[in-house]
Amino acid sequence: MPTDPAASGLPIDPAAARSDSHLRIVWVYPDLLSTYGDRGNLLILARRAQARGIDVETIPIAYDEPIPRSGDIYLVGGGEDRPQTLAAQRMRADGGLRAAVLAGAAVLAVCAGIQLIGEYFHIDGNRIAGAELLDLRSDRGESRAVGELVGEVDPRLGLPLLTGFENHGGRCHLGPAANPLAKVLVGTGNDGKTEGAWAGRVIGTYLHGPALSRNPALADLVLSWALDVPLMALPPIDDSWPEKLRAERLAAVMPR
Ligand code: GLN
Repeated sequence: MPTDPAASGLPIDPAAARSDSHLRIVWVYPDLLSTYGDRGNLLILARRAQARGIDVETIPIAYDEPIPRSGDIYLVGGGEDRPQTLAAQRMRADGGLRAAVLAGAAVLAVCAGIQLIGEYFHIDGNRIAGAELLDLRSDRGESRAVGELVGEVDPRLGLPLLTGFENHGGRCHLGPAANPLAKVLVGTGNDGKTEGAWAGRVIGTYLHGPALSRNPALADLVLSWALDVPLMALPPIDDSWPEKLRAERLAAVMPR
């Protein structure tokens, strides 16, 4: 599995490598970006790390605060069009998230989040510049994509079916430096064919639910990147409730 952040196409600064033993999870602009329970991603990551004896610090950063560069994982949630535009402008001007990615931090960006970490997106006919962490561009779809999504994850990531809830007007178009996160089996995602994107340790997805409660294996992948250990090195957790949730949601939308 590729875990090299250089695979994102962004150069890594070895002098900026983090050495502390605890895990710092930065929740970026919760006052602008946190639709459909995206805060749950923070709770799931913290719980799954703590269950493995890892000390966790969670750091919410409001839109008028600087984004710290020393985080291990950065979470960017979904949002309505106007807050999304403001968030993109603040994030670009701040530069902290980009610096953290260059230092090897992991990122999970959801819905508005995937759009605003790309090169640009469109709101009300205007092109808004993004943070340029993933090689993708967004435009508007003919109709809003709303409902359940199921996808077959890029086999290099070694994850089971991706499941979640989508609600977005935008569509993403990936360039060659971004890999689709999954092939769409049910739903729309980026364009009806692929869902989300990843490169290096940066993941974007359209999925709420929240994404990591519906996909605990994805949470563990992000943790393994942030901790710099192979996925298999994480001790297993009793996952009976997430598995019940997954089984129930997959049964609701997958053809029998
Ligand atoms: N505003 C964006 C869109 O509609 C993202 C929506 C969201 O984050 N749920 O495409």
